[in-house]
Amino acid sequence: MTESRQTPLNLVVLGPPGAGKGTQAVEFADRHGISKISTGDILRDAVQSGTALGQRAKATMDAGGLVDDQLMIAIVRERLGKKDVAGGFVLDGFPRTVAQATALDEIMAGQGALIVVDIAVPDDALVARLARRRVCGQCGLAVSASVDAVAGRCEKCGGELVLRSDDTESVVRERLRVYAEATRPLVDYYSSRPTFRSIDGNQRAEAVGSALAAAVDQVLATVSAGNPASGGVVG
Ligand code: AMP
Repeated sequence: MTESRQTPLNLVVLGPPGAGKGTQAVEFADRHGISKISTGDILRDAVQSGTALGQRAKATMDAGGLVDDQLMIAIVRERLGKKDVAGGFVLDGFPRTVAQATALDEIMAGQGALIVVDIAVPDDALVARLARRRVCGQCGLAVSASVDAVAGRCEKCGGELVLRSDDTESVVRERLRVYAEATRPLVDYYSSRPTFRSIDGNQRAEAVGSALAAAVDQVLATVSAGNPASGGVVG
């Protein structure tokens, strides 16, 4: 179900690898009829199609590192300039560094509020989750291996469920290290803003979805009342 909107709903979903950002971003975007932009999906598509971007990004992705800021900023700048984004967007996987966040602020200047929700999950839960995660080789849908064991195939398109090439244990550890070093500082970057909320991601996906919706509603109410309360923890 989609809801019609008059002002753009611009949402950044932050969080460590395995926090469920992709799942929540898809659901939120579908529910609100806005575009989901996942930089990880853009890069994986480029790798699969063998484009120059894909060739440039593949080794970095396989090693669990970050593709360089200027390239990622250029990709997102171009994507956010497209028509479908006028009604709003959900960004998943960007920004990942303070330089990317600063660039996003510049891109968004005068374009309406940027709501930022951090999905917080403890490290030990993430390693276990990523080991269980399978993705559809065809449509990219992510599921837990417990579902995989029953279905074996994607419930959405019937494609084969596979382990993501960067979900192997050593690469997962590197991605978590890179997250802690480069991306977690974004929580500090955004946390004093009235448009920032942090939600508990260590619960069932449905509960995370409800907490995300509540956090966004709270920010919208605060912003539209012109009375920005300080950012806080919800759900
Ligand atoms: P994700 O699907 O968001 O976990 O992204 C998969 C991989 O793509 C990451 O481990 C990075 O190598 C790369 N990547 C995705 N988004 C970005 C970004 N904003 N900046 C740098 N690298 C990125």
